Amino acid sequence: MLKVCVVGLCGRMGHTIFDCTVGLEGIKIVCGIDRQIDNAPLNCSVEIKADPYELSFKPDIFIDFSRPDCSLKVLAYAREHKIPVVLGTTGFDEDGKAFIKDCAKYIPIVHSANFSVGVNVILSLVQKTAATMIDADIEIVEAHHRYKVDAPSGTALALGEAAAAGLNVNLKDVMVAGRNGITGQRNYGTIGFSSIRGGDIVGEHKAMFCCDGERVEIGHIATSRDTFARGALRAAMWLEGKKNGVYSMKEVLDL
Ligand code: NAD
Repeated sequence: MLKVCVVGLCGRMGHTIFDCTVGLEGIKIVCGIDRQIDNAPLNCSVEIKADPYELSFKPDIFIDFSRPDCSLKVLAYAREHKIPVVLGTTGFDEDGKAFIKDCAKYIPIVHSANFSVGVNVILSLVQKTAATMIDADIEIVEAHHRYKVDAPSGTALALGEAAAAGLNVNLKDVMVAGRNGITGQRNYGTIGFSSIRGGDIVGEHKAMFCCDGERVEIGHIATSRDTFARGALRAAMWLEGKKNGVYSMKEVLDL
């Protein structure tokens, strides 16, 4: 039985992971990290602490969907106590990303901006399309619920990284996000990002390859958070016994 600590247990993804583990064999939520204990899932009676250092025992693994500041604290604890981490939090800055890499020298980590199987399938399609339609203007459009705090979404950035890999360029050299005002004409070779925020949209992404005379669109629509939760639980089972390092869902799904 894999004993899981869910980081962000009282948030939207925490609740979904809790619901998806009910009746699941081989995996059990034994504790949580969250600072909003009042919002704990109904019927959840496990220990919930605001800080990993307050936990009264060591879980086998962390599944973390919280915020970067919280995740970095959890990673430091996990590194110290040699506990693997499934990391779904998005919005890390460059220092945060470097810290994740450093922790992976001591523990195995699955880090993915999107744990859905469908998104991971389209990531490889986007890379192939970018490498083939070399004259296309590439635009990534994403839409999420009104509560999302980072933009572009981690998945939109992952799609941009995939397109940039297809073009053999660095995303940060070609990325254009949030156009506004007199922007001038579109620069050739750039990858544009647009973000929509509203209502209860779970997560929608589209990579557009716009040429003269034709356009290819590769898209994904998540209709329920269960898809991310099930992917994260699958990653947790897969991670058991793996060597230290950062893994992606590509490896988990053997794509
Ligand atoms: P949410 O705001 O509903 O939940 C986050 C939870 O973390 C909250 O309960 C909050 O109290 C807790 N938290 C935040 N900072 C904390 C801190 N410093 N200490 C203790 N607890 C803290 O958010 P959500 O919609 O559940 O999303 C969480 C994260 O997961 C976001 O970064 C989101 O982008 C990401 N996400 C990733 C995927 C994926 O597949 N990788 C899918 C959905 C969401």
